[in-house]
Amino acid sequence: MILDEVTASVAAQLDDQARLGVRIVNQGDVPETGPVHGGVWVQVPEATAVFVDLKGSTGLNSRFGAETAAHAYNYFNRAMAVIMNGFQARYVDVQGDGLFGLFSGKGSRFMAAACAITMKSQVETVIAERFRGDVSIDWQLRAGIGVDRGKLLVRQLGLRGTGINEVWAGTPVNTAAKLSGVAGPNEVAVSEKVFADYQQSAKIRQRALLWSCGCEGNARGGGLDLPAGRSEYLWQSIALTGNLGLDFDHAYHLRRSWCQVHGAEFCEALVTRQRRKG
Ligand SMILES: [Zn+2]
Repeated sequence: MILDEVTASVAAQLDDQARLGVRIVNQGDVPETGPVHGGVWVQVPEATAVFVDLKGSTGLNSRFGAETAAHAYNYFNRAMAVIMNGFQARYVDVQGDGLFGLFSGKGSRFMAAACAITMKSQVETVIAERFRGDVSIDWQLRAGIGVDRGKLLVRQLGLRGTGINEVWAGTPVNTAAKLSGVAGPNEVAVSEKVFADYQQSAKIRQRALLWSCGCEGNARGGGLDLPAGRSEYLWQSIALTGNLGLDFDHAYHLRRSWCQVHGAEFCEALVTRQRRKG
């Protein structure tokens, strides 16, 4: 009887796990792979998760067929993974129909912020247009991006023959995934905790992250030289509705991309805390 066999297997597995116990090892950085032996879990006290989701992907298959849907995922996932790698995410993985990157170490919160804004910018200015042209359909490829940070636990879990993969326990990945759903098309949504970091960051980072360049893409104005407060504030606080199971009630949304003219300068300031030379 299949049910008897399954029930016996579950009981045997629980016995194994009880015997094995759990051992938590602290580590400063996000590991490339989680531990797989014994009951060992790695705990990372502080990591930032950036989750990106392809908006409106569920209707793609039924409206445009499997080939188009598959093509959209290829373009989107590969491009997003390349950006995460470019901003030195220590771990990148696919989860459901989105993907996430994990950042840790000095300055990684701002690396993650620059990564999120770059994903938004690239989707808007490059990827969507390229996809529309290459597959010739009347559909706009758009992303939702969520960011959170905090403590993470990881190990590899699974059974031989069923696939073994990292399990990232703890709130950041889960919360970033929820925020990517809350974000409107081509918006970045960050948690209260993450936004508080931005507000308390070094002046040059605040300038590059919270305030616009003031030129509206017209290559005018002072860019970073324009003092904070003299241009448009870029973030909007949005009350979270519905039962999302989050421990904060407002998310902060960014609707603007890097400016074509000043974007590189702003990104550099955010990542390095330095003015670009020359
Ligand atoms: Zn500008």
